[in-house]
Order: sequence, then C-alpha cells, then structure tokens
Amino acid sequence: MTHAQSEISVGPGSVADAKASTASKGRGTTVAVLFDIDGTLIVTDGAGARSWELAFADLWEVEADISNYSDTGMTDPEVGRRTFEAVMGRSPSAAEFSRLLERRMHYLTQTVAESSGYRILPGVAELLPRLVEEGYVLGLVTGNLEAAAHVKLSRAGLNRFFSFGGYGSDSPDRTEVTRMAMRRGSVVFGGHVPPEAFLAVGDTPNDVEAAHAAGITCVAVASHKYDMEQLEASGADWVIPSLEQGLPPLSA
Ligand SMILES: [Mg+2]
Repeated sequence: MTHAQSEISVGPGSVADAKASTASKGRGTTVAVLFDIDGTLIVTDGAGARSWELAFADLWEVEADISNYSDTGMTDPEVGRRTFEAVMGRSPSAAEFSRLLERRMHYLTQTVAESSGYRILPGVAELLPRLVEEGYVLGLVTGNLEAAAHVKLSRAGLNRFFSFGGYGSDSPDRTEVTRMAMRRGSVVFGGHVPPEAFLAVGDTPNDVEAAHAAGITCVAVASHKYDMEQLEASGADWVIPSLEQGLPPLSA
C-alpha cells in the first residue's frame, strides 16, 4: 500500500479529513510536492540566457545578456520585459513583446538541445519515480513560461512525472504562480487540497519566500547558486545539500 492510499482516499473532502486526523506537518499531511525546475531538477548551463540573447540579436540586432538585468527565480515575462527596457531604453509594445517571446521559444529548443553543460541534478532521477510510487502527486512551480518548462524538462525525460504546475506565463509574481499550482493541484487531485498538504522544493530564497507567502512549507536544496547557509538565512523549513537523500519531511 502506498503512502497516499494508506492515509488519504482520493476524492472531494477526503484530503481535509486526512489533514484533520494528522497533527504534524510533513509525511502525514503532504499529498502534493511542487518542484522548481532550474537549479532544483536540472541545470541547462545557460541555455535559457542564450535563447534570449539569440532572440534579441535576431529581432533588433542588439546584444542582450539577461544576467545583467535579471535574477534567479524571476519569471520569464519579467526577464524579457526588464531586459528589453534595459537594452532598448524603453518599454516594449505588445507586438514587440509577443515577437520576443516567440523568438525566445524558437531558440530555446535549439539552445537546450545544444547545451553541453545540460544535466539532471543529483538524486532527481531516483527521487521522482520514488515519490510517485509512494503516492505523492507532483507539480511544478517555475518562472519559466509553460512551454519553456516542458522544453527544458523534455531533454531529461522528466515531463511525465508532473501532472500540473504554476508557470511564469500565469503571473509575474512567484507567489501567485505558487497559488496557481496549488489550485491546479486540487483540480488534478479531485478535491480541495489545503496548503498544509503541499510541500515546495526549490533552490533560491525567492522560492522559499513565495512558498511561505502562499502558506506552504519549503525544502531548499543547495544544488545550484545558493549554499546551505544562505538558504537557512532565507527561512527555509528544511535545507539539504542535494536531493540524493530524499526530502526530509517525507522520510520515515
Ligand atoms: Mg531555481
């Protein structure tokens, strides 16, 4: 019997009932796990930045290094808009922004395929099937546009593990992206899933902040640009060096 079957029967009302019967956060209450993508599941080694660069060069013949104008954890539309404003000295028109997003997606397929440093992060390939086997429903919370998220995950064959998500195409605000993922998670689950039943996993202080603002706990993984100390300072509920040891709140 899997974890979810043992404690929660799928259907409207059942999650709230299960929650009422379990007092502590963690294994007993969690039914859905929300994963960030870049720096948490995979790294594309600059494929995202390179795709923006090619799009700006193609459309306006300007050099655009998004790392000068954006931060990790920012959503794609925000990255595109900020970079446009910085390199062009004005806001994009609707038509320009639309063309930028299209060109960027066009090149992303190519830059992800060509990236020599693309890799799946340690522990991910083992953890995802194990969580599914144990009965957890998995979703995404990412600043990527929905299509970009799937292009990035496709090279590692990871799309199949995620049945829903919140994306940078839903809102420029990561907290709202997290809430959107939670609403869609409830739809997939077939009944209201309370915040206590979600667990977020991310690699930046932004991820932690958004999870907490949306009312859910967060495991921070020091697998990319932030170290354990920085993530602890961000207030993460759990901080781990990699996903190789699994998720602490879900460990027996
Ligand atoms: Mg990340």
